[in-house]
Amino acid sequence: MFVVRTAGHVLGPEVLGSIEYGVSVLSCPMVIVLGHDACGAVAAARAAVENGETVQGYVRDVIEKVTPSVLATRAAGLSEDGQFIAGHIRHTTSLLLERSRLLADATEAGRVAVAGLSYQLADGSVHLITSHGLGTPHIRAVS
Ligand SMILES: [Zn+2]
Repeated sequence: MFVVRTAGHVLGPEVLGSIEYGVSVLSCPMVIVLGHDACGAVAAARAAVENGETVQGYVRDVIEKVTPSVLATRAAGLSEDGQFIAGHIRHTTSLLLERSRLLADATEAGRVAVAGLSYQLADGSVHLITSHGLGTPHIRAVS
């Protein structure tokens, strides 16, 4: 397993390059965007949008990258925490495929699958939010 971790699973050039390295050099067959419930980055982005709360330093860059997901979820008329978490996982997964031509091509060619999963802190279960390539993985509860 080749792991690239960022707060709020935000994407930047270094993250995209690391993922492309994992796929092209290490031949990783699956890319997973793993979000989780009670995510502080999503909560902070919601607080920024809904209450104008601001954060300092580079944490602000993280929050700004989560904000489009929050805005899209709100625009869809959704309001539950889980819906914001799922929306951000779905958005990050789509963004990954939009920004990385290498990953999109590998997915279209059937060499890689890309999935967005939500991890539940309380019981360790994982739920499938979205997937691309190689059919639909069936992941329900993995402890
Ligand atoms: Zn988080």
